[in-house]
Amino acid sequence: MQFRWTGAAHPLHGRAMLMPLALLAWLLPAHALAATVARIDVAGDRIVIRFDEAVERAASFILDGPRRIAVDVNGANPGSVATAAGPVAAVRQAARKGGTRIVFDLAEPAIVSEGELGEDGRELTLKLREVDARRFARASLTGPLSFIPGLGSRAPRYKVTQAVPPARRARLPEIRGDADRPLVVIDAGHGGADPGAIGPEGLREKEVTLRIAKAIRDELLKGGRVRVALTRDDDRFLVLRERYGIARRLKADLFISVHCDAAGAAIATGASAYTLSEVASDKEAARLAARENKADVIAGVDLGEAAGDVSSILIDLAQRETMNLSAGFARLLGREARPLIPVKANFHRMASLMVLKAPDMPSVLFETGYISNPADAAFLASDDGRERVAQSVRRAVEVHFARRMAAR
Ligand code: ZN
Repeated sequence: MQFRWTGAAHPLHGRAMLMPLALLAWLLPAHALAATVARIDVAGDRIVIRFDEAVERAASFILDGPRRIAVDVNGANPGSVATAAGPVAAVRQAARKGGTRIVFDLAEPAIVSEGELGEDGRELTLKLREVDARRFARASLTGPLSFIPGLGSRAPRYKVTQAVPPARRARLPEIRGDADRPLVVIDAGHGGADPGAIGPEGLREKEVTLRIAKAIRDELLKGGRVRVALTRDDDRFLVLRERYGIARRLKADLFISVHCDAAGAAIATGASAYTLSEVASDKEAARLAARENKADVIAGVDLGEAAGDVSSILIDLAQRETMNLSAGFARLLGREARPLIPVKANFHRMASLMVLKAPDMPSVLFETGYISNPADAAFLASDDGRERVAQSVRRAVEVHFARRMAAR
């Protein structure tokens, strides 16, 4: 491993980073690097990193002991050195396989509260927030914030300004239904400080998903074939891993996370279902994953997965069977939903979605329609629309478990 540190080098820091760097280098494919770091500006509560050419993606994370903010940039060589300012005491860069790591040594504890990689992939802006030592230590235990070119500007409505409450072990929700039935956990996406996507009429995804989740629960209970629990039945914030964590602690047989899609173009319409994959099935799926995974990191954050880049989730081999079951359910859901609700032509998609990461529980993320599309939004907000969504899920769930039973 060769390291080329530029700027004010601290040999000790360099050595402390050898292991994670070596590991990252091993995991990442080799790229021909097109871009170079052209300029780094540190001023007040903001870091702006400019590149002479577009970069593919970037991620920032927090390291403690000593306190640093590290930024990994895929597709760029180390370049121009910066002068330190504000909470940043020194700036260093090192080449790593596939890109550059830029390290900001901190004089004061500060975390990245939000950021954006510009549409053209040539400017990464990170907003800093000074925090206390305890909050910084917590932030250092979480996964990175990922930036993909243009994502921020493509989803301008998706913004959270409130602080996120600290992580805690969620209390287990009530299970309804007959004791010997399989358990379905319905997860209403977003909640609390995280409103999710916001529709043209100010309709908030977190409210729509909660109402749909309750409609699905009632419909499933009416059928009497399964037990049902909701990860949340009020307006509360849950970390993504808490959501599937609740389902796993309840030993759920199926996990369905309910969301509404959003797109810059109002014409995008129809429901779709996502299952877990390391690689997104298409560009839109990748964007969706980045947006939905952001729920954890959105407010700056000391929450979420302790390790692993949320933009490329590594999947265990043991997970393959679960993934096949999830895909089977997604296809069923598409079949049952098509006559009842507007659906996309390619209903089943794949993406690296954090909330689907339970290794042993079939999990699907159901995008019930576009909150950014006036017709879809009105449909999802109506009693009839919710009822039809709930019926689609009920039919698919009943066929799914009937098949599982028959296979035994
Ligand atoms: Zn969502």
